[in-house]
Amino acid sequence: MPAPIDKLQSSFVFSQSSLQDYVDCQRRFQLRYIQQRAWPAVEAEPAMDNEHFMQRGLQFHQMAHQYWLGVPKEKIAGQVKGDKILSRWWKNFAGSKGFEERNFQNQKPFPEISLSAPIGDFRIMAKYDLLVIQPEGKAIIFDWKTSRKRPKREWLIHRLQSRVYPYLLVQAGAQLNEGEPFKPEQIEMIYWYTDFPDQLARIPYSPKQFDEDQAYLARLISEIQSMGEGEAPLTEDERRCRFCVYRSLCNRGVEAGPLEEAEGDWEAEGGFELELGFEHIAEIEY
Ligand code: SF4
Repeated sequence: MPAPIDKLQSSFVFSQSSLQDYVDCQRRFQLRYIQQRAWPAVEAEPAMDNEHFMQRGLQFHQMAHQYWLGVPKEKIAGQVKGDKILSRWWKNFAGSKGFEERNFQNQKPFPEISLSAPIGDFRIMAKYDLLVIQPEGKAIIFDWKTSRKRPKREWLIHRLQSRVYPYLLVQAGAQLNEGEPFKPEQIEMIYWYTDFPDQLARIPYSPKQFDEDQAYLARLISEIQSMGEGEAPLTEDERRCRFCVYRSLCNRGVEAGPLEEAEGDWEAEGGFELELGFEHIAEIEY
């Protein structure tokens, strides 16, 4: 058996989901990204529902991508006629006033665009569902969310995604702004939920937040770089383990938690994001 890898490889590229893993549980980060341990377990039960949930999330993102590439809404709707949930999501998207074509005249939409920049000895990347550059120079980051419950804005603000995405747009977005880096105050992030089409979560960015994010991300990466070879600390919040594939390896139970619960406990401190599995797939495969 090969010796376990004990250091992060220098070619490693950080993302919001890998950093969120570190913040949620250092052991999970170590197992997933440093030791690269594959562990065959489902994240939530029923496994089939969870699988369908992730597949639908992926398909919705592909549909939205097609729309921004110019495929007519009706043609896209035809692809999912037999699927009630996807049809509902698409109806919500297609019927949303916010996404009417006339709203985007003279604006530059960049769907499914990736940006990356150096950070410490590594790189950090983000894949944006949609970036829209407005004529007056404002940059809007849209992110589609397919969870059945909508978290509070305060919860979203503290997610790594809400910090990494605008930060990276400042650091690496000059190519989209005629060679000029975006100023933090030009940037806004909007989460759009497929089942809550009128409840946008808008998070404006600012120079102060950029400075805080820069310091925070540098500190996280330096901490990760200095992780020792021994077993990293397991999360103290054992609720996380119910939806983590490594739970049997960590002696934190065998059965996966129920999909309903994982997806929805937004009100509780440290609510779980059941798009977790999907976010990993999305960053890698699509
Ligand atoms: S099972 Fe729990 S302790 Fe183990 S890696 Fe997953 S979240 Fe961390």
